[in-house]
Amino acid sequence: MLHPLPYGAQLHPTTLAFLRDQPKRLWIGGRWVTAAAGRTFDKDDPATGLVFATVCEADAEDVDRAVAAAREIFDNPRHPWRRMTPHDRERLLHRLADLIEADRQTLAQLITLENGKPLTAAEGEVASSVRMFRYYAGWPTKIEGDVKPVSIPDRLNYTLREPVGVVGAIIPWNFPLSMIAWKLAPALAAGNCVILKPAEQTPLTAVRVCELAQEAGFPDGVIQLVIGFGETAGAALTAHPGVDKIAFTGSTEVGKIIMRAAAGNLKRLSLELGGKSPQIILDDADVSKAVIGAAYGIFSNAGQSCNAGARLFVHRRVYDEVMAGLAERAAAIKVGPGLQAGVEMGPLVSREQLARVQGYVAAGLEQGARLRTGGTRPPQAPEGGYFLAPTVFEDVRDDMTIMREEIFGPVLAASPFDSIEEVAARANNTPYGLAAGIWTRDVSKAHRLAGLLRAGTVWVNCYSQFDPASPFGGYKQSGFGREMGHEALELYTQVKSVWIGL
Ligand code: ADP
Repeated sequence: MLHPLPYGAQLHPTTLAFLRDQPKRLWIGGRWVTAAAGRTFDKDDPATGLVFATVCEADAEDVDRAVAAAREIFDNPRHPWRRMTPHDRERLLHRLADLIEADRQTLAQLITLENGKPLTAAEGEVASSVRMFRYYAGWPTKIEGDVKPVSIPDRLNYTLREPVGVVGAIIPWNFPLSMIAWKLAPALAAGNCVILKPAEQTPLTAVRVCELAQEAGFPDGVIQLVIGFGETAGAALTAHPGVDKIAFTGSTEVGKIIMRAAAGNLKRLSLELGGKSPQIILDDADVSKAVIGAAYGIFSNAGQSCNAGARLFVHRRVYDEVMAGLAERAAAIKVGPGLQAGVEMGPLVSREQLARVQGYVAAGLEQGARLRTGGTRPPQAPEGGYFLAPTVFEDVRDDMTIMREEIFGPVLAASPFDSIEEVAARANNTPYGLAAGIWTRDVSKAHRLAGLLRAGTVWVNCYSQFDPASPFGGYKQSGFGREMGHEALELYTQVKSVWIGL
C-alpha cells in the first residue's frame, strides 16, 4: 500500500499507476509471475521508514526456472535471439534507450523512492543510463573476429567473438538503474541472455526496466528478473551450473563468497567491489576547487558509492585552509528527502546501513579522531528517515578503523601529508584499489602521482567522472574485470579460433 508521502512530494501519474499494481512480480520466461514459494517482502522509503511497496521474493526454485528459460534460448541455435542480426540487436537496444528516456520521470521517482537520493541525482542516473544503452547499441555491428597470420601451409585460421551465454547480473542498491545499464547493455549487445538479480533494497527500478524491455520487444526470456535476497536468490544464481557468467557489483566480502560459489562450473566472473579511495590535495592545488571537488567526491550519493573518495590526504601547507573549507561546505549541504526540491543529499538507503555508518562514526570518536562537523542526524531532517549529516573527521591516523574500512556513508577521514612519495605510499596502503583523486596545478606531479597510485581509475582535478567509453574497475581487492568501454564487451564475449584445411 502506498502511504501518502509526508513531505508533500507529488508523484507522476505513471509512477502512481506503477505503484498501485502490487505486489511487484518476477519476470521469468516472458511472464510476470509470483514467487514459486508465494513469498513477498516489504520495501520501505528511506526518507520516512514507511513501507510503500511489496515485492515477490524469489528463491532457488525461481532461479532454476529463469535459468531453464534462458538456456532454452541460448542453447537453441534456431531461436530468434540467437539468429538475430547485429543490426537488429542495435535497433532493440536503441528502442530500449528511447523508452527509458521517455519514462525518465517515473524511473527517477522510483530511484529516489527506493534509494533515497535527490531527484536531480536520480534524473542524472536515468540520463547516463540512456547514454549507456545508446553507446552499446553501436557495438553489435562492430564486434569482430580476425584472420590470423598462421605459418602452417594450407591452413586458414580466423577468430569469432561469441557471446558467453547465460549471464547472472547481481546488482547493488546504490545506483539502481546505472548498475543495471552497465551490465545489461554490453551483455545484450554481445548477444547473451541476462538474469537480473537487483538488490533487495532497490527492486522497483529493475521491475520498471524489465517492463520497458518487454515493450521494446526483446524476445521472451532474453532478459529476466529474479527479485530476492543475496543469500537465497543471489546464492542460487551464482552456484547454478546453467549460468555461464556472473557480473557482480557489491561488497568485497560478498565478492569472495561469489568467487567460491562460481567455482563449481568455473563461471566467468567480473567483480566490481568495494573501495576506500584516496583523494590527494597538493599544496599547489586550486584550493577552492579542490574543496568543492573533494566534498562532491565523498558526499555525492551520501557516500554510498564504491568509488567514494573517503580518505582525504592534504598537503600540510594547505591543510588548515582545506579543512576549514570542507567543514563549511559539508555543513552547508542541504540534507532531506530526495523528492523535496533543493535537497542535495538524501538519507542512507536503509536502517541497517545507517546503523553501520553510525557504528563507524562511534569508532572514529572512540579511537580519537577529531570530529570537525556532522556525525549526527541533521536537525532539519524528518523523523523516521535514515539521515546522517555530512561528516568530516580530521587528524585521522592511518591505523584507525575509519581510515581503513569501507564505510559506505557520508564520512570523510582526513589527514595531512608532507611529500608525494609519502602520500603515494599511504594512499596505496589499503587492500582496495578502485579509484583515486588528485588535486594539483602541477602537470608533472599529476602524472607522476597518477602513475604511482594502484587504482583502476585516477581522476585529476575532478572526481567521479564516468562515460560509457571509459573502462571502470578495480585493482587489488576492489575486483577484476572492467565495466564500460570495449573492455566490458570483451568480458561478455569469448573467442573461438576456427581452423580450415584448404
Ligand atoms: P551491501 O553490503 O552494500 O548491501 P552486498 O555486496 O551485500 O552489498 O550486495 C550487493 C548485491 O549482492 C545485492 O544484490 C545482494 O542481494 C547480493 N548478494 C548478497 N549476498 C550474496 C550472496 N551470498 N550471493 C550472491 N549475491 C549476494
